Amino acid sequence: MILSSVGKTTNAAGAGEATLNDTISIAVLPGDGIGPEVMAPALRVLGRAADLYGFRVETAEHPAGAGHYRDHGSALPQATVDAVAAADATLLAAMGLPNIRYADNTEIVPQIDLREIHGLYGGVRPIRAWLPDAVPLKDPRGASIDFVLVRESTEGLFVGRGKEQTDGDRAVRDIMEVTRETSEKLFHFSFRLARQRRKHLTLVDKANVLGSMAFFRRIFDEVAEHYPDVETSRLYVDACAMIMVQRPWDFDVMVTENMFGDILSDLAAGLVGGLGLAPSGDIGDGCAVFQPSHGTAPDIMGKGIANPNAMILSAALMLDWLGRKREDERMIRAGAAIEAAVAAALKSGAALTGDLGGSAGTEAAGDAVIAELGTRR
Ligand code: ATP
Repeated sequence: MILSSVGKTTNAAGAGEATLNDTISIAVLPGDGIGPEVMAPALRVLGRAADLYGFRVETAEHPAGAGHYRDHGSALPQATVDAVAAADATLLAAMGLPNIRYADNTEIVPQIDLREIHGLYGGVRPIRAWLPDAVPLKDPRGASIDFVLVRESTEGLFVGRGKEQTDGDRAVRDIMEVTRETSEKLFHFSFRLARQRRKHLTLVDKANVLGSMAFFRRIFDEVAEHYPDVETSRLYVDACAMIMVQRPWDFDVMVTENMFGDILSDLAAGLVGGLGLAPSGDIGDGCAVFQPSHGTAPDIMGKGIANPNAMILSAALMLDWLGRKREDERMIRAGAAIEAAVAAALKSGAALTGDLGGSAGTEAAGDAVIAELGTRR
């Protein structure tokens, strides 16, 4: 474990020692592949934002991932699980490598284990046109894509992981589970989020075919009664996929099952320029892990060319979540400033990495965001 501190010690008045409330403790899980490469600039951006907005960030790095499994026999040590629970929030980069697998040949995905262990049911994926030029679809009336996909992240079709029923070489059955407890929490979370935005929530399911999805919809309808100020729509997942391509700018918040959310969030990232611009947060009742939507990108690891923007935007999302939870305007404003700095650095071209058609390296893209951040106060 590496303990470090980023951000100066200041209080709201800008002088003296920081109080406990001024400090956020962040568990840092760099993981595998390009994970450590994108984490480094994100921590530098976070430190600069903390300096500018007058709070302190303490980071502690913890091991997890395929590399740790190869070297130490465990992909997710208990100490790391405990550190995630104890921290104010966690930043996770990416985990898993194609050539390192468990003995039964399944993939090493500690990020999914963490969601299940800590009950991080609310998988938040904000989809915004950070770089308008990278958006392949244009609204004839000029509306911009700006929605949040909430993916239930602890059950649904993913519950079947490792529990499939095998009938020799004839058939394999996976399990799909939807519980009332998690669905109620998920929907309350999504309605509260819609309330902070344009007050429209779309349920995405397959209630016309699957009993579990009809149950999901019934619970949604019950919870909706508590939020008469939020407009609702209900879409089958196939129709939703089509509408996301036809008129993505119409969505505000959408909520869906785990596997549907897994698929639709990649589609959504593609709508705004790809995985390098897609941040995410996995949020539970008190615990939360923030990570880019992309994987470890083994094809470009070690080259210093990975796009750090999704990781940086995940850190911004974390500050927004922490600020709202602690009712601390400084963190909310710091999160918004990081987002604005990313947008400006992309627009100027200075943060455009190869995947976005530019030539900036990972570190230079991070520096460009930091430079923009400095102009925002
Ligand atoms: P996972 O299953 O863990 O999501 P994956 O193999 O499906 O992983 P990624 O690792 O995200 O997907 O990589 C998909 C493609 O996107 C690769 O070509 C990779 O190089 C590219 N890519 C992913 N993230 C980035 C990034 N931050 N910067 C540049 N390219 C990226």
